[in-house]
Amino acid sequence: MIVVMKTDTPNLEIQRIIQELQSESITPEKIVGKHKVIIGLVGDTAGLNPQHLQQLSPFIEKVMRVDKPFKRASLEFRHGEPTEVSVPTPNGVVVFGQNHPIVTVAGPCSVENEEMIVETARRVKAAGAQLLRGGAYKPRTSPYSFQGHGESALGLLAKAREVTGLGIVTELMDPADLAKVAEVADIIQIGARNMQNFSLLKQLGAINKPILLKRGMAATIEDWLMSAEYILAAGNPNVILCERGIRTFDRKYTRNTLDLSAVPVLRTLTHLPIMVDPSHGTGKAEYVPTMAKAAIVAGADSLMIEVHPNPTKALSDGPQSLTLEGFDQLMQQMALIGQAVGRWSKKFSISTATPASQKPLTAKA
Ligand code: PEP
Ligand code: MN
Repeated sequence: MIVVMKTDTPNLEIQRIIQELQSESITPEKIVGKHKVIIGLVGDTAGLNPQHLQQLSPFIEKVMRVDKPFKRASLEFRHGEPTEVSVPTPNGVVVFGQNHPIVTVAGPCSVENEEMIVETARRVKAAGAQLLRGGAYKPRTSPYSFQGHGESALGLLAKAREVTGLGIVTELMDPADLAKVAEVADIIQIGARNMQNFSLLKQLGAINKPILLKRGMAATIEDWLMSAEYILAAGNPNVILCERGIRTFDRKYTRNTLDLSAVPVLRTLTHLPIMVDPSHGTGKAEYVPTMAKAAIVAGADSLMIEVHPNPTKALSDGPQSLTLEGFDQLMQQMALIGQAVGRWSKKFSISTATPASQKPLTAKA
């Protein structure tokens, strides 16, 4: 249930209402939006009568029930106002949100060595990426596949951050590594395979670092939002959702099925920023540019693209990784579409009088 306060309600009055609503089964939460303050009530609200609540104060605009199972993640909980996730990086604050330019995150699947991660970081930065991705701890289907270099790779990410000023996105798998990962990561990624690792999600609620929550391979949109709810309910409001493809019956021509319809659907359900990962979504570099551009048109707030200096030699996910040149070309094409939908940073805008290369982006190594 939410209590929407009228604009300019005195703070003391809001405090008074919060105190009045406080009970054993309900903890009122003050949510300060750009235009309005909302008091969110989560817990056993079945016995509350909205009409009675309305009478608590003349400053109450309206009282509404949130009938979705996810509460804090619901659009209603912020009265339709999109959440902005701000990520401080050495190059400045990067903001993810519906009213901001599209943020591009790029880099290899795994951090392999210093030279490759620093070179990739430099090149994706020059192409317009704002954050560098790279796995130190890798969730692999086979225990015999490369598992990531672990702690030493975190050190290499720190180095790439220092050299380029790019913020770092890297995956956390084991709660035991939380402190180490949080020290280097500007955004902590929770991978598809851990989307429903509820004890891990609860621990992420206790920190303030932004969390990138990838959609589980067979997760419904509601499962996914309930997982986000775990993090929000535990106290961390900085969650970004990432569509990375779901498993369907057709695996012959694509690795996963990128569910772009999730983007407009999520818009009707949640205030959280939405990222799309066409690399895992398709599993093939040749389809990544088309789906990246489609994601912009679908309304994504951010893109995550796997890029490798030599994809044929990559230790993981080479077939879906763009080359450095391929990524640069894609960024030019994305700029045109991003500008057309009014979502591209002025800093990286390109003149529409000289269209980007029309060459097909095969991204072959
Ligand atoms: C990754 O980003 O490299 C990754 C393993 O992603 P996902 O969890 O979506 O498979
Ligand atoms: Mn990968």
